[in-house]
Amino acid sequence: MKYISTRGKAAVLDFEGVTLTGLARDGGLYVPESFPTLTAEKIRAMAGQPYADIAFTVIKPFVAGSVDDASLKAMLDATYCGDVFRRSAVAPLVQLGPNDWVLELFHGPTLAFKDFALQLLGRFFDHFTAKRQQKLTILGATSGDTGSAAIEACRGRKNVTIYMLHPKGRVSEVQRRQMTTVIEPNVVNVAVDGTFDDCQALVKACFNDLMFRDEVNLTAVNSINWARVMAQVVYYFSSAVALGAPDRAVSYSVPTGNFGDIYAGYIAKSMGLPIEKLVIATNSNDILARTLQTGRYERGDVHATISPSMDIQVSSNFERMMFDLASRDSHKVNDYMDEFAQKDSITLGDAEISKARDLFLAEQVDDATTKRVMAALAASNGYIADPHTAVGLKAAEHLNAQVPRITLSTAHPVKFGAAVKEATGVTPDLPSHMADLYQREEQCRVLANDITALQALVRTGVNS
Ligand SMILES: *Cc1c(COP(=O)(O)O)cnc(C)c1O
Repeated sequence: MKYISTRGKAAVLDFEGVTLTGLARDGGLYVPESFPTLTAEKIRAMAGQPYADIAFTVIKPFVAGSVDDASLKAMLDATYCGDVFRRSAVAPLVQLGPNDWVLELFHGPTLAFKDFALQLLGRFFDHFTAKRQQKLTILGATSGDTGSAAIEACRGRKNVTIYMLHPKGRVSEVQRRQMTTVIEPNVVNVAVDGTFDDCQALVKACFNDLMFRDEVNLTAVNSINWARVMAQVVYYFSSAVALGAPDRAVSYSVPTGNFGDIYAGYIAKSMGLPIEKLVIATNSNDILARTLQTGRYERGDVHATISPSMDIQVSSNFERMMFDLASRDSHKVNDYMDEFAQKDSITLGDAEISKARDLFLAEQVDDATTKRVMAALAASNGYIADPHTAVGLKAAEHLNAQVPRITLSTAHPVKFGAAVKEATGVTPDLPSHMADLYQREEQCRVLANDITALQALVRTGVNS
């Protein structure tokens, strides 16, 4: 499989290349040259298979030429197993209504869906760095959950050092502690005086500094890294097949921030999975919902909400979607991104908007509504949902109830315990593997929102 940049000017790479590169050198994002398709027969055969086997069928075409079947199988078996995910279904479906389901994606080591991709990505890093005898510097920005999942995936790995930026004081205490209590020589936590968008801008600036990038051999673990999106395609297949695909269509509601998870749903659909609609569920940071409603992709101010992992105004993965909406015209994507850099907004063409409206619905859900959904669900079903999941559940109400409606549950309620307690009166318990989280020692650097200071810090680590 070959990968091309959305901006059309970076080298064409194979899967190994894009995994170790992250952001394309022309500032774009890598996408497969074309999406592989799976026949109805192949999809049907997934029914009743272990998650790791479904993952093998879905992922194999994307890594063709870079990873041999036996290595891929070994990595998938080691990732999607009981030692890593504490449910044997790996991604269990829970029924909440006659045709309403929650896909629980929070049974991994850091209790959010990001473990699905990052646990696998850590193993790809090991595989490729061992083969190349190379060391990697990982730089990432987190609004909370990416950070802990990436750190957990990279801790102790021989050829990898990870620097993780989070906005100081803007992640929940559980989220912070999950990152800062990992005391390993190859893990550096950095609290930045700023917002998540500031952290993400620092990371992007480091990637766009090509000399720095080569000097420290920089790689991304944010969802700009193709491998992450790819890994997330799998649970769309496992859940849809469990509910009757390919012979019955399903729909998804996806709590969305960086447009990674929902873009994975779009890929699943492009590969042949019968998905009727995908709902973009946002909190009041609603740039994506507004885009679908108005045709204008326009930056707003970042608001702090009770679903902080979606407090994002610039969705980096949206560029991948834009590339397809613009019929894969990289000139158009360059024009759009230039326009956005200058004016903080883009107006999409009519054809692009109507294509997007065919695929997606969108709904923004404010904090008050989110709390009401959590309270109502606790009362009616005794089900405790985290605030991100609750945003998704509310948005799912827009979907046609004739087809199964699956809401992605992106985090365990304990990660957002304060909001859950306020809405439902229930204090969720930490799972046993984390019971002593509040007693563990923390380690973290504080840094100004300043690229020079950040690069100096990374250089020290690489040259020591
Ligand atoms: C990251 C995250 C999201 C948003 O996912 P994207 O792929 O960035 O759209 C939603 N919910 C939780 C709990 C997350 O950690």
